[in-house]
Amino acid sequence: MPDASGPELKTPALPYTDEVKAKTDHLYPRVAKSIPEIEWRVMAPYIAAINDLKKEKNAVILAHNYMTPEIFYCVGDFAGDSLQLAKEAAKSDADVIVQAGVHFMAETSKILCPDKTVLIPDPKAGCSLASSITGADVRLLKQKYPGVPVVTYVNTTADVKAETDICCTSSNAVEVVEHAAKEFGTDTVILIPDQFLARNVAAMTDIKIVTWAGACEVHERFTAEDIREIREGNPGVIVLAHPECPPDVLAEADFAGSTSGMSNYVKENQPNNVVLITECSMSDNVALENPNVNFVRPCNLCPYMKMISLPKILRSLQTMEHEVTIDPEIIEKARRPIERMIALPLKRQSMYNHQHAPEVAAVEARS
Ligand code: SF4
Repeated sequence: MPDASGPELKTPALPYTDEVKAKTDHLYPRVAKSIPEIEWRVMAPYIAAINDLKKEKNAVILAHNYMTPEIFYCVGDFAGDSLQLAKEAAKSDADVIVQAGVHFMAETSKILCPDKTVLIPDPKAGCSLASSITGADVRLLKQKYPGVPVVTYVNTTADVKAETDICCTSSNAVEVVEHAAKEFGTDTVILIPDQFLARNVAAMTDIKIVTWAGACEVHERFTAEDIREIREGNPGVIVLAHPECPPDVLAEADFAGSTSGMSNYVKENQPNNVVLITECSMSDNVALENPNVNFVRPCNLCPYMKMISLPKILRSLQTMEHEVTIDPEIIEKARRPIERMIALPLKRQSMYNHQHAPEVAAVEARS
């Protein structure tokens, strides 16, 4: 990943004119509960300019669930988790994709849409999980565990995916691990790089799991004690946790699933009071779609996701920076494990209601 985004953005505040008002008034009701009017008048000129430029350049914006509401609801053309976004991008006839998310997501879009121009508004928007492991690390793992299939979480770089047998998401990890073991005729699977996701999968299957010492710096900070305190302060609250959290956090939760799993749970069950144990913008976005549900909001921000802002998206479309490029050979190799996952006839989502102890066979790390 590039290590610098160039000079910091110096775009001056744009004026809130009658023209801007006419172009954006219809969007404000979507976010009014989350964004005060005084802030909206600062954001609206950027939103109008971005939406104009999207038409001019035949561009779409892919907005991840962890984007702030003004990006998620007002400039995003597709919203969801990283894989949903890349699949939507592949179907679109846009020439340009702007990834409102982190760098590995932009790489996934480029892998699935190699003929499109893929832009990331800030190339420093990385990820602690994705940067925990390299393609060379995976090659060493394969030498150490010959014949054992490598299942890789989509939160990884293209180099890592290129060394992978099949990818998984947090919503299908258990099923993909079981499928890989069956296909390769093994009782062991390498599931990298998130050791907590791996432990949570291990609690749901008899397959032995070898993992990597990676973690999401947002989800690893939650503790079981946090959950108990939230329950004490909010009697009756329903706790939904992301499977990148440590297993003892999931053990305290009422439901554990991916970002889309959590969002669907709230839509379908309409709990009176709920807490999402994940990145904080997710609660803001889900709350706007579920006005009758009260959200308790412990806040762990992802510093990388929060590097993406309206001014940076605008600058990206104006300058066509920063373009994501990947060696075509790596694109070819990295696409196969993603397509294998997409082609699997998976019937259910992983729900992580632990059935075993969350023990893994080994946690490998760079020596
Ligand atoms: S929330 Fe975690 S996994 Fe997602 S981009 Fe941030 S650090 Fe990476």
